[in-house]
Amino acid sequence: MHNDLEKILFTEQEIANRVKEMADVINKDFENRPITLVVILKGSAIFAADLVRHLTSDIDIEFIRLSSYGNGSVSSQKVDIIGGLNFDVNGKNIIVVEDIIDTGTTLSKFKEIILSQNPESLKICSLLNKPARRVSVIEADYKGFDIENEFVVGYGLDYAQKYRNLPYIGVLKRSVYEK
Ligand code: 5GP
Ligand code: MG
Repeated sequence: MHNDLEKILFTEQEIANRVKEMADVINKDFENRPITLVVILKGSAIFAADLVRHLTSDIDIEFIRLSSYGNGSVSSQKVDIIGGLNFDVNGKNIIVVEDIIDTGTTLSKFKEIILSQNPESLKICSLLNKPARRVSVIEADYKGFDIENEFVVGYGLDYAQKYRNLPYIGVLKRSVYEK
């Protein structure tokens, strides 16, 4: 385990198993209807890469960046799409792929933007869910794991751009972000 971590929450194998289960549910729901995956960079890229390889529909992948955390561990309130929404949503089956829903602010704002463009359908797929800190009313349609109110890194999730490459998900030591 990386020295900056307090503990591992989900191992590489546990994540792989859960991602496959999530994909199985999506495959059942969509019955091979085409899907546009909207991947929220950077955190969700690794999750999306694993998920998409289990999906059986025709898949179109779009990547977007939302302004959020900066380098801190406290969520900011304002949400912008960096570079704007530069793909067609109208009439598409959209699945938004997110790494973690925390306060829910990011996704609820982004959901409004997508809905205003008349998709055929819109689903939210989040690997992690931190219900303790929810401010906005939003739930994922496809959810990997519920976690406690702890700051986690690994499998795409960062702290100050570090730790994304860890193959597991773990809790960052407080001493790392409080120094
Ligand atoms: P929300 O708007 O739901 O509060 O924040 C969502 C975003 O905050 C996530 O997409 C993620 O980038 C970041 N975030 C929230 N909790 C954590 C966490 O425990 N670890 C990391 N690395 N990022 C988090
Ligand atoms: Mg994110």
